Amino acid sequence: TSFGFQEVPEEEKSKMVGNVFTSVASNYDVMNDLMSAGLHRLWKERLVSKLNPFPGMKHLDVAGGTGDVAFRILESINSTRHSGLQDMPEDNLQQATQIFVSDINPNMLSVGKMRAHERGLGEDGSLVWVEGDAEALNFEDDSVDGYTIAFGIRNVTHIEKVLSEAHRVLKKGGRFLCLELSHVENPAFKQLYDYYSFSVIPAIGELVAGDRNSYQYLVESIRKFPSQEKFASMIAEAGFEKVEYENLVAGVVAIHSGLKF
Ligand code: SAM
Repeated sequence: TSFGFQEVPEEEKSKMVGNVFTSVASNYDVMNDLMSAGLHRLWKERLVSKLNPFPGMKHLDVAGGTGDVAFRILESINSTRHSGLQDMPEDNLQQATQIFVSDINPNMLSVGKMRAHERGLGEDGSLVWVEGDAEALNFEDDSVDGYTIAFGIRNVTHIEKVLSEAHRVLKKGGRFLCLELSHVENPAFKQLYDYYSFSVIPAIGELVAGDRNSYQYLVESIRKFPSQEKFASMIAEAGFEKVEYENLVAGVVAIHSGLKF
């Protein structure tokens, strides 16, 4: 029972992705924990440690959803600030940290704002919530120090546009980081993983979120996403340098990174 997503025209695709996340938004955080057995937390921690956030930075988290990555970045900055260990130039410390959470779906952002409020995060204006499309960012050229996208690029219509927008908005020296479900090579592990994703995930989706199709679509979109190597070459084509990637859990997820010079 395929979701038949391949045959869908482009305008329909964006609408469908919108519907998927509107339907998913309220269950989103619970489902993440269930489907990844809590591992997405460690993956996001790893992403943030690679970013190496600093006080005073302007950071853009695209497809930021309910704020998970942004919260971790802010918490990491707050802990460096309080530890006093980091030797930061004065003018950086004077600048206000701003983490922009951008997402195409206002429902995800609303849930995110509520979560931030509950945690007492971003009340000082350090979290900024922006509705927007990753393919056409509402940010100036050379305006942010860092760019992250976690579990977001897989669902866009034109990956190339997202990458070139990322390159455009980053300042020189800025880092691009992408955390995404990727491809498992090891044959034995792949068999297990296929069973898990094609049978277990849609079943959890049906049981917990009452929505089998959305989760089936999510699984199919993982298969269609470019391989680690191919995606790395697309990042380089967008103009990034020092492009590399790290596989986590044998390639279930990968973190790609690149620098703008
Ligand atoms: N980054 C968050 C996290 O890791 O918890 C959320 C990831 S969620 C799987 C994917 C997000 O991508 C959704 O919030 C969805 O609304 C957003 N999205 C899909 N297409 C987008 C686009 N073209 N531009 C911006 N956001 C998009």
